[in-house]
Amino acid sequence: MVIIMKPGTSQNEIRKLAAKFEAQNFRVGITNGVDCSILGLVGDTTKLDEDKILLNEHVERVMRVSEPFKKANRKFHPADTVVNVNGVEIGGGNFGVIAGPCSVESKEQIVDIAKEVQQAGACMLRGGAFKPRTSPYSFQGMGVPGLKLLLEAKAETGMPIVTEIMSPKHCELFEEKVDLVQIGARNMQNFDLLKEVGKLSKPVLLKRGLSNSYEEWIMSAEYIMSEGNENVILCERGIRTFEKYTRNTLDVSAIPAIKRMSHLPIVVDPSHSGGYSWLVEPLAMAAVAAGADGLLIEVHNDPKHALCDGQQSLTPPQFGQMMGKVQKIVDLMGKKVVY
Ligand code: PEP
Ligand code: MN
Repeated sequence: MVIIMKPGTSQNEIRKLAAKFEAQNFRVGITNGVDCSILGLVGDTTKLDEDKILLNEHVERVMRVSEPFKKANRKFHPADTVVNVNGVEIGGGNFGVIAGPCSVESKEQIVDIAKEVQQAGACMLRGGAFKPRTSPYSFQGMGVPGLKLLLEAKAETGMPIVTEIMSPKHCELFEEKVDLVQIGARNMQNFDLLKEVGKLSKPVLLKRGLSNSYEEWIMSAEYIMSEGNENVILCERGIRTFEKYTRNTLDVSAIPAIKRMSHLPIVVDPSHSGGYSWLVEPLAMAAVAAGADGLLIEVHNDPKHALCDGQQSLTPPQFGQMMGKVQKIVDLMGKKVVY
C-alpha cells in the first residue's frame, strides 16, 4: 500500500504516521519528493481500512498495490482453472453449453427440452425451480417439485443439472441434489448466501450483478472461495446501461478482462443479455469469439406460452442451428465442445 502525504507535511508528522504502522508490524519506507512524501507499507495490508487512513488530516491519497482478491487472482494462479461439474469439465480449453428453460413448468416440458438440447450438443440442463421475479405476483417457480422434475430429466438424459439457489435455507437440499449451484444476478452480493454456498462441495455458477464491476464480481467469487469452495464458474449475463432497446447490454469486454484478472472459467448468457430470441445467436457468437468458456442458453419448446422469459427463449430447432455455428467458432478458438 502506498500513502501519499499532503504537500508541506512536516517530517515529524510523517514519522508519527510511519511509527503507527510499524507498531502494527508493517515495514514502512519513506520517500521524500520535492513536493510531497510517500509512505510505502509492506505486509498484509488487506485488513487496513483506506477510509480510516484518509481520516488523518495529512494524508492526500491511499493506493493499494496489492490485489483485493487473492484466491480468484490470475497473478497467484496463472493456469486456467477447470471446473468439473459431475464429470463435465468447463474451462482450460473445454467449452460447454448449458441449456434449458428459464423455469421448470412440467415433467413433459423439462424432459422433452432436456432430450432436445442434449441431442443438439448441450452438456448440462438448466431450469429454474426457485425464481427471482421482479414482481411478487409473477410465477415464482415450482420450488421443490420443480427440482424433482429436473432430477427426472437428469435420470433420463444423464445431464448434470444447473439451478438457482435463492436462500441459504436450501443449501442442504442443493448439496444433495444439484450438480451446479447457480447464484443469480440479483444475489451476486448476497454475502450470507455466498458464504453458505462457499461451504458446499458442489461447484457454483456465479452470475454478474445487474450493475456490478468486474472487481465486485470477482470479490463475490472470493467470498465463495474463501470458505473453501474453489470451483466457481463466472457468468456474464449483460449489464444495465442507458440503452432500452435491448433488455441488458452484453459486456463483451468482460470476457478477456476477467480472463486477465482471474483464472476462473467464464461463460456467457446471451439470453438475459439481449432479452430477445433474435439476439441470442449473434451475441453467442461474439462471446465465443471473445474467448468464453461456455454459454448458457434459454430454450423452450413452446416459447409463446412459457411462464417466464419466453421472448428470449430459442426453440430446440433454433438452438440446434445456433450450435452448428458455435461449433465452428469454438474450433477456430482451438477449444473443444464438451458433452
Ligand atoms: C436465470 O438464469 O433465469 C436468471 C434469473 O438469470 P439472472 O440472474 O442473470 O437474471
Ligand atoms: Mn430467465
